[in-house]
Amino acid sequence: MHFLSTITGSFAQPADENPTVAMMEAAYAHHGIDARYLNCEVSPAGLAAAVAGARAMGWVGFNCSIPHKLQVIQHLDRLDRSAEIIGAVNCVVRDGDHLVGHNFDGQGFLTSVRTVLDPAGARVAVLGAGGAARAIAVELALAGASRIDIVSVRPGPGEELADLINARTPAAGHWRPWDGEWSVPPGADLLVNATPVGLYPDVTALPAVDLESLAPGTVVADVIPNPPTSALIGAVRRRGLTALDGLGMLVNQGALAIELWAGIDPDRGVMRARLEEIFGV
Ligand code: NDP
Repeated sequence: MHFLSTITGSFAQPADENPTVAMMEAAYAHHGIDARYLNCEVSPAGLAAAVAGARAMGWVGFNCSIPHKLQVIQHLDRLDRSAEIIGAVNCVVRDGDHLVGHNFDGQGFLTSVRTVLDPAGARVAVLGAGGAARAIAVELALAGASRIDIVSVRPGPGEELADLINARTPAAGHWRPWDGEWSVPPGADLLVNATPVGLYPDVTALPAVDLESLAPGTVVADVIPNPPTSALIGAVRRRGLTALDGLGMLVNQGALAIELWAGIDPDRGVMRARLEEIFGV
């Protein structure tokens, strides 16, 4: 008989509206894994103690969400390569006595992209230059994308991300000013919305992009998980183009965590179905 469950979880503030716990526990239940995922409200002042507690209690790992993705690094023993380049961690995995930081936001996104497009040689435009944009741009660049345009209103973060791509990856990074409605350059293989535009409750909002400028072969991907069919995804699909929703990214980053925490490739359909139930799809 065994009564000691595997413990995983999340540290965030606010934590109450994060549905990840339901998605992860649906996977654990489906696969009959004796594991728990504890959704914990952790303030910035409490982060060091929370990580020390997870370490002391033998958690196999935990996710970090806002506002801990950068600050958690100082409490870890080492970083995975892309997390080190991105400079942010969304998933921690215990390896013996060590806590290792990973960033699965961009890798989860990449898993979705690979279902429709080979990133090798791709020309990409990323809207936004925040945390999601940074993770996505770096992973696409490490996966062989040839050119990455960072499109942002403020030059500082956009130029900094383009510089990071040029310095730390084989891809060419360029900053493009986002001043009014942006036209997608001809030849773009992938357009990514990595801004919060369209997130619930502002569900009709569209990023300022001229959708007429999209070429028939351009794939459009959104980071917005709720609603899964964001205004952008809906508009792109009505034009007959291929669109990837942000739910795929969310499910895939969780699946990558479960792979390392529990050693199984979880059923992503089960995880997605639980989120769709929550979002009322
Ligand atoms: P950040 O705040 O770090 O970055 C947001 C970026 O979007 C900034 O560059 C910001 O520019 C820009 N932006 C915000 N509003 C506008 C606007 N109206 N027009 C143009 N640009 C705008 O947020 P994150 O990168 O952490 O998150 C972005 C989105 O990604 C969120 O909606 C989040 O839910 C989603 N996300 C989804 C995940 C998934 O698994 N599906 C995982 C992680 C995030 P500025 O700084 O100048 O305001």
